[in-house]
Amino acid sequence: MSAPRPPGPGAPAVRVDLYSDTRSRPSEAMRAAMMAADVGDEQAGLDPSVNALCARVASLLGKPAAMFLPSGTMCNEIAILTHCRPGDEVLAHADAHIITAEGGAPAALAGVRVHPLEGEDGQFDAAAVGDAAYARGRYSATRRLVCAEQTANVGGGAVWPLARLDAVAAAARAEGMATHMDGARLFNATVASGVDPAAMAAGWDSVWVDFTKGLGAPIGAVLAGSTQFIDDAWRWKQRLGGAMRQAGIAAAGCLFALDHHVARLAEDHRRAARLAAGLALVPGLTVAGPATNLVYFDVRGLGCDAAGFAARAAERGVAVSVMGRFAVRAVTYLDIDDAAIETAIRMLGAAAAAI
Ligand SMILES: *Cc1c(COP(=O)(O)O)cnc(C)c1O
Repeated sequence: MSAPRPPGPGAPAVRVDLYSDTRSRPSEAMRAAMMAADVGDEQAGLDPSVNALCARVASLLGKPAAMFLPSGTMCNEIAILTHCRPGDEVLAHADAHIITAEGGAPAALAGVRVHPLEGEDGQFDAAAVGDAAYARGRYSATRRLVCAEQTANVGGGAVWPLARLDAVAAAARAEGMATHMDGARLFNATVASGVDPAAMAAGWDSVWVDFTKGLGAPIGAVLAGSTQFIDDAWRWKQRLGGAMRQAGIAAAGCLFALDHHVARLAEDHRRAARLAAGLALVPGLTVAGPATNLVYFDVRGLGCDAAGFAARAAERGVAVSVMGRFAVRAVTYLDIDDAAIETAIRMLGAAAAAI
């Protein structure tokens, strides 16, 4: 996964930015809602917009309590810090965001080791949890927490089926482990599958949703769990500097997103399917899925690597991200319309043909 770099002098303008669904910009209407937000001191529990957002997300996810945080990464790390003690182990898929994209924070901040599990589509099953917990004793680290990512980002945006989530959570409980769901794109999963968010989160002790991915808000994520869990998590929020002041300005953008940007995720999924179908016709590209809004394709057949392909795409005004030596990702979100998809198909096809 290459870090984004600012374009150099003379770099071609980006016409279609498929780098990530984090590239959305708040709409005029969202900005207006943010401007009008009722605010207070968030750290003291006095921000009405933050309180409204937390109550709403807790209810949507079927949890008693929730907490507003600046980012999804902070949700994951505070959850790990709250569930675990130094020396503990966390089970997660080998491609999980907490392993690949959080700067080593589970080790650096919580002193835990994340034990990688294998499986198709960024998922693992209950047997993998049971196997990992088998024959543990006083020689071994305490396996404390199981994490699942819904949708699985590097798993191609795949949706964990409800039955598998429930089975994994039950296996974790049977081994005395807590459960945490990284729901950065949970609403993509619920919209794609029709499963209710509370049902999806039911087996999981903590769960969070990101507002800066497909939901299109500029700042914020909400972590939910039991009242005790959120009380304990508050100490880590304070310690890490995640307690805020008039954060209702940001929370109002998130509330706007809940009202206007959830059901429309289906459009992103439809456009991702159209993009994938278009790219599948380009000789040399092997396209996966897509299950939701993340389109992964392999460029091995072009005889170049992903970084080389991304550079050629950028020359034609299309930004994509490099997710592995040969893996490229293109992401749809609310600023990407049908015309942008057709342009992207043409330009990525031209980039491939020129290699
Ligand atoms: C983006 C993302 C995160 C981190 O969220 P930020 O708001 O960018 O900190 C965590 N997990 C997954 C699966 C993500 O896609």
